[in-house]
Amino acid sequence: MSTPDRPTEAKTREDDDEFARKAGIDLSAEAQHTTPAAPATGAAMASPIFKLEDVGVQYGGVPAVEKVSFELIEREITAFIGPSGCGKSTLIRCLNRMNDLVPSATVTGKVMYGDQDLYADDIDPVQVRKVIGMVFQKPNPFPKTIYENIAFGPRVLGMKGNMDEIVEGALRKAALWDEVKDRLKTNAFGMSGGQQQRLCIARCLAIEPSVILMDEPCSALDPISTAAIEDLMIDLKERYSIVIVTHNMQQAARVSDKTAFFNVAKVEEGKRVGNLVEFAPTDKIFTNPEDERTKEYVTGKFG
Ligand code: ADP
Repeated sequence: MSTPDRPTEAKTREDDDEFARKAGIDLSAEAQHTTPAAPATGAAMASPIFKLEDVGVQYGGVPAVEKVSFELIEREITAFIGPSGCGKSTLIRCLNRMNDLVPSATVTGKVMYGDQDLYADDIDPVQVRKVIGMVFQKPNPFPKTIYENIAFGPRVLGMKGNMDEIVEGALRKAALWDEVKDRLKTNAFGMSGGQQQRLCIARCLAIEPSVILMDEPCSALDPISTAAIEDLMIDLKERYSIVIVTHNMQQAARVSDKTAFFNVAKVEEGKRVGNLVEFAPTDKIFTNPEDERTKEYVTGKFG
């Protein structure tokens, strides 16, 4: 069994830049663009948080997914399902401008966050990623202590408040506090995979996002850790809007309010493009879908 590395605190600006990039934080003083304000909350619980109009993404001019239009509702969990290669990850990355980091990617159409165009010239993509956080398939804690993993973002962003309380609050929200409160100063790499993923969720929550995007957050986890993350998602949706890409249809059925089913269509010989087939309440997608392709997918006939 390997011993976890001792914590290595980042000492250099290069390390900090790398950590900040992973956490979606901009350290540069030049980042003076607009931060998208979270849409007003509370008054209307069913207000759309995202509105996509005819969104498409090309890589090097080759369409990966196209003609996607839908509205995502605040404080709901929306699941993206569909066979591999239909553009689920590509599309979720449009929701916090993560595709900007892929030089060959071009996004067309309109992505509205509340009443702001996320791709408007004056919107800073790095600030977008602070408000719209992301958790990845593979847990990616920093090589730092548990405490520092959480404190890093709030500190570099100059967030006000008592850091111990910020760290505790984020770990509590991620249902991790009781498991780690006695070892906050130990390296995050000593945690189990499931705990590391909840730490990444806590890290995301510490910088107070409004939306959490999760790209297959459980695919590297065992069933018990998966169940813990699913329970956590259901708790978190009281305060956050969540979008999850999942290969696991049972997971989509268990946790989500709405489901978007994507498929890959052949547009011409040798050319296949992802598209949205059906977007509906999860119950409907799984029990009474409109589209025959959805029915075949959810009943396991393909994919
Ligand atoms: P899914 O998440 O549904 O499996 P992806 O969004 O990963 O689908 O991929 C959709 C299509 O875009 C696939 O054809 C894939 O090969 C292509 N693709 C994804 N990322 C890149 C990239 N960085 N460069 C070029 N093509 C990509």
